[in-house]
Parts: sequence; structure tokens; C-alpha cells
Amino acid sequence: MSGAAPSPAEVTAEVRGWLGANWDPERPLLEWRGLLADSGWASPQWPADWLGKGLSAELARVATDERQSHGAVGPPIGSAMNLAAPTLLAHGSADLKGRLLRRILTGEDHWCQLFSEPGNGSDLAGLTTRADRDGDEWVVSGQKVWTTGAKTAAFGMLLARTDWDAPKHRGITYFILPMDQPGVEVRPLRQMNGHASFNEVFFTEARVPADNVVGELNDGWSAALTTLAHERGLGGSRLVASDGWQKGRTATEAMAEAAEHSRTYAWYPQRAGRPDLLATMARQVDASPVERQLIADVIARNRVANWNVERARSARAAGRAPGPEGSVAKLAGSDIARRSAHAHGTMAGAAGMLTGPTSMHDGVIAEILVSVPAGSIAGGTDEIQRSIVGERSLGLPREPSADSHVPFREVRTNSTGR
Ligand SMILES: Cc1cc2nc3c(=O)[nH]c(=O)nc-3n(C[C@H](O)[C@H](O)[C@H](O)COP(=O)(O)OP(=O)(O)OC[C@H]3O[C@@H](n4cnc5c(N)ncnc54)[C@H](O)[C@@H]3O)c2cc1C
Repeated sequence: MSGAAPSPAEVTAEVRGWLGANWDPERPLLEWRGLLADSGWASPQWPADWLGKGLSAELARVATDERQSHGAVGPPIGSAMNLAAPTLLAHGSADLKGRLLRRILTGEDHWCQLFSEPGNGSDLAGLTTRADRDGDEWVVSGQKVWTTGAKTAAFGMLLARTDWDAPKHRGITYFILPMDQPGVEVRPLRQMNGHASFNEVFFTEARVPADNVVGELNDGWSAALTTLAHERGLGGSRLVASDGWQKGRTATEAMAEAAEHSRTYAWYPQRAGRPDLLATMARQVDASPVERQLIADVIARNRVANWNVERARSARAAGRAPGPEGSVAKLAGSDIARRSAHAHGTMAGAAGMLTGPTSMHDGVIAEILVSVPAGSIAGGTDEIQRSIVGERSLGLPREPSADSHVPFREVRTNSTGR
């Protein structure tokens, strides 16, 4: 597809024609995903030079809708597609894009995000994991924490300090770290809801090839902001439904892959507070007028939040990069989750604390109550989102910072690593 942008009808016709010639529900998943990737229809909003069609987000959605209505399996879900790929497309070298993007589209590689450290979450730029150059490699030592999916990841998006004499935002480099090596140790953590999706990751002289730097040396902060902006704009897209696929070998293998992936994220719907369950609960317990008010409030807020997500999508369709609207969406999501959990808790009473198959909704209410706090923390806390909205959208004065302009070496920190 070249020249002027095609019409939606042209996109639909082209996808339909391509699927008619190539979709075979009995193909092995990897073979199918390879064909889809090479055709440009796996992620048609990507540039034409990099396995896409260069379509606007709106036209890409037309293409995806057509693929879905055909019952054809699409690209995988997860951090590789949602975070690593857009960061590579925006900041990666031709060599990195050439080596890594196709394997992301085929689902061969899972990725994790190695940003947060024990002493540095909100203050991410204060990180102290270090990388030192040694010939054709970088040698990495330090620790990350809260790393979702690190156990199964082939690569990590790693932020490490490479210049201790520069101010804190300017001495960080963004690396692609191969996870399967002796210098990387992954230890799972158990959460209060009983799941174990996070890990601690320890680096003891782990090795990164020199070519695996994303963007410029010491300018990793720019690429990190791209990853974070995509993370905040994610909403529920991690949980894309896998139904509607035409039955056959490809769908069976894709379902198995999705089931494996969703083991890490099994509690994510509960983390969102399950507003979808409120009406069922209300009927079950014959909700009082006050409880009905709580429910109406959550549902109204949820609807407004969805319109805001649509607004953000339109902005992307118009070619604008993700911005503070991601922070607004994230804040709305955690607020709705808390209000929904409160409504569930009010209706369930003490029974809402019970877990197991004989409890209310198989223990889902209890899981909501202990999972909802995660939404206000993951991807940047509510307080940090409010600062972003205040500074970047409302033009309020920036939060004062005592340490942004001095060499990092002189910054007082409670972290180890130097
Ligand atoms: C479900 C989940 C998944 C996650 N997955 C990953 C992952 O895959 N990879 C990864 O790298 N990290 C991940 N994280 C970590 C997450 O990004 C951090 O937990 C988050 O950024 C907060 O950092 P912190 O935990 O160090 O809290 P802190 O930064 O120590 O914050 C503690 C409290 O202080 C407040 N605070 C801190 N600074 C300010 C300020 N300047 N102004 C106002 N208030 C402030 C915070 O809002 C918070 O209430 C995940 C977290 C969760 C909950």
C-alpha cells in the first residue's frame, strides 16, 4: 500500500483478499504468525519498513476488525508487544529492530521490564543498578524488583546507570538484556492475594552486547518515557479476548499460549475492581438503596472513563504520541477500582473476606479486596500521575527537586550499588 492513505473499504478488501489466500486454521501457530508478520497485517500501524503497513491507528483498527471477523489468530499479547515493540520502533537501531521485532510479532520471545529497584520506584531516575563497558559488552550489577513475568522472559528492558558524574536523568542507558545467562538470578515474590507474578532480579556481572543499547548512551531516560507512556495508556488491552478464532490447530496453540500468559495476569480483572460483577451481586444480595447508589456511581464513572480512553485513541489515530491523557486514564482506573471494591465489600459484608470455592463468587470478592491496591501503584503511583497531570496538562509549577542538577555521585541516596 503506497501513496495516499487508503479508504477503510480498501483496507477491508485488501485484508480480506490476503486472508482468503493465506489463512488456514490448521497451520502451526509459529508458521502462521510468521506469514502474518511478513505480510504487514500483524501490526499494520507499524511502519512499512518494519513489518507494518504504516496505517493510522484508525485504519489499523479496521484491518484488525476484519482479521477478527475472519476468525484468524492475531499477534501475541504482553509486554513485548505493548511496551518493548513501541520503544524499539521509536528509539531502536535498525540492527535491534531487525533482530527483535519479528520474534515479538511471532510470540517467540517474552519480555519483562527491568525498571524499578528496591530504593527507586517513583524516583526511577535515582536508580543505582550499574553498567560498565568491557570491550564489546556491558557488565551489569545491581538489583531490580517487582519485575512482572521475569521468570519466562527472554529479554529485559533494562535501565542502568552508565555515567555517575552526570545529573541523575542524564547518566542512564536503556539496554536489552538477555535474561538466560549465569549473571541473572530471578526470585519470585508472593503477593498478599496469593499470586506470584512479580520477581526480584539480581545481576552479578551480567553481560549485555554493546549493540543492545536502545537510543543513545546515557540518554536512556527518553526511551524509558516512551515505555512508561505506553504502559499508562494500556488500560485493559493486556487482556484481549481470544474468542472468535476459527477452530483448528492454530487457534488451539494460540489458546494454550494465551492460557500460559494469563497465569501471570489471572488476578488483573480483580485488580480493576470488577465493576462488571456489581449488578449480579446486587441481585444476589437484594441490594439496599444506598448500595444501589454506590453501584450507579461506579458505572457512571466507568462509562466516562471509557469515553476518555476513546478520546486518547482518537488522539493516537490523529498521529499524536501518548501523553498525559494516559495518566488521567490510569487515575480514573484506580479510582473506579477502589469504588467498585468498596461497593462489593459493602454488599458482601464479612462474607466478602472468605476465599475458596464455597465462598461468594468462588472467593472473587476477597481477591478484589486484596488486589485493587496494585492498580494505584503499578506503572507509576496515583500521586505521580497527579503530578504529571498538574505539571504537563495544567501548567502548574514543577515539583521542586534538590538533586536533578548535581552529579549523581553527589546525590544522597538510601540505595546500595556504588
Ligand atoms: C502490579 C504491579 C506490577 C509491576 N510491574 C513492574 C514491572 O514489571 N517492572 C518494573 O520495573 N516495576 C514494576 N512495578 C513497580 C512499580 O512501577 C512501582 O511499584 C511504582 O513505580 C512505585 O514505586 P515504589 O513501589 O518504589 O514506591 P515509592 O516510590 O517508594 O512510593 C511510596 C509512596 O510514596 C509516594 N511518593 C513517592 N514519591 C512521591 C512524590 N514525588 N510525590 C508524591 N508522592 C510520592 C508514592 O505515591 C507512594 O504512595 C509493578 C508494580 C505493581 C504494583
